[in-house]
Amino acid sequence: MSYMPDSKRYDTMKYKTCGKSGLKLPILSIGLWHNFGEVDSEDNAREMLCYAFDHGITHFDLANNYGPPAGAAESMFGRIIKKDFHAHRDEMVISTKAGYWMWPGPYGDGGSRKYLMSSLDQSLKRMDLDYVDIFYSHRLDSETPLEETMLALDSAVRQGKALYAGISNYPPSQTQQASDILKSLGTPCLIHQVKYSMLNRQPEDGLFKVLEAENIGCIAFSPLAQGMLTDRYLDGIPGDSRAAKPHGFLKVDTITEDLLKKIRSLNKIAEKNKITLAQMSLLWVLRQPCMTSVLVGVSNIGQLKGNLEIVKKTDLSEKVIHQISEILID
Ligand code: NDP
Repeated sequence: MSYMPDSKRYDTMKYKTCGKSGLKLPILSIGLWHNFGEVDSEDNAREMLCYAFDHGITHFDLANNYGPPAGAAESMFGRIIKKDFHAHRDEMVISTKAGYWMWPGPYGDGGSRKYLMSSLDQSLKRMDLDYVDIFYSHRLDSETPLEETMLALDSAVRQGKALYAGISNYPPSQTQQASDILKSLGTPCLIHQVKYSMLNRQPEDGLFKVLEAENIGCIAFSPLAQGMLTDRYLDGIPGDSRAAKPHGFLKVDTITEDLLKKIRSLNKIAEKNKITLAQMSLLWVLRQPCMTSVLVGVSNIGQLKGNLEIVKKTDLSEKVIHQISEILID
């Protein structure tokens, strides 16, 4: 049966303007890096996307290389969109990216115009879409002049293949330069997709300042540190977890005893405040003034349901933020 979205889907979600643009994003967005590949269940994927949309999540984040194999997440998403979301395309913000290795030879990786334009065409074909809402340069490519990469993003927008341009994983000074170039081209940088969580605070060293000064929106990826900032690994490595899967990006070796000690202490703070560690981790990321949205991955509806609770929660108190920082600097 084809999907009929909940008529109350916009009643509870909070939306925040992305930088100084006219585009609003839900404070919780969903990413398709894991759990949408050929190794995953399409029924489960569809259920998660429908549940997300039913609860006001309008932003769906992809990249050319999500799978496995690379490209599979876009293909699966394309099939689901065609079947279930076709009538709702104008209610969705869909993003994709190019920057990492995608196909053999010199034109399937990096930041050249040749790669970015071809990759975007391939992504549109896989998703069976006329355009994406946001097209990202997935990473800085030191072998390509920044002007060329930014011009490719500008072209994608001018050709109507993307509505907005974004960058991801760019250090502060190159973010400033990218923003200057894009402004001069007339296609301002909408958003920066950054790795940010309680276990990775690098963007605090200069990047957030640039984003605030340049009025660029910010979306945090891996805000749960791929699941480590949840109850997932408190008592071992569950068989169905990302760390246990051979294709998962999170490796068991990363989850050390030292790290677990920290995570358990954070979990205690969450418990005292009657929230889950996952919710506390998401709220902690959202406390940054430049943060537009947190971009989570989920492997089942239960996780999504739990994460969506943040919409009803108030901000973390100064006291809780202080308690968290004490643990993080330990
Ligand atoms: P998260 O840090 O949100 O980790 C997601 C994992 O955490 C899930 O797969 C699940 O693990 C676990 N999880 C989520 N919610 C809960 C919960 N409530 N309780 C228990 N466990 C939970 O993010 P990702 O690393 O998946 O990244 C999110 C998105 O960011 C990606 O899908 C992608 O769109 C984007 N991204 C962008 C990158 C870039 O370079 N621009 C790089 C990486 C990601 P499990 O599977 O074990 O159940």
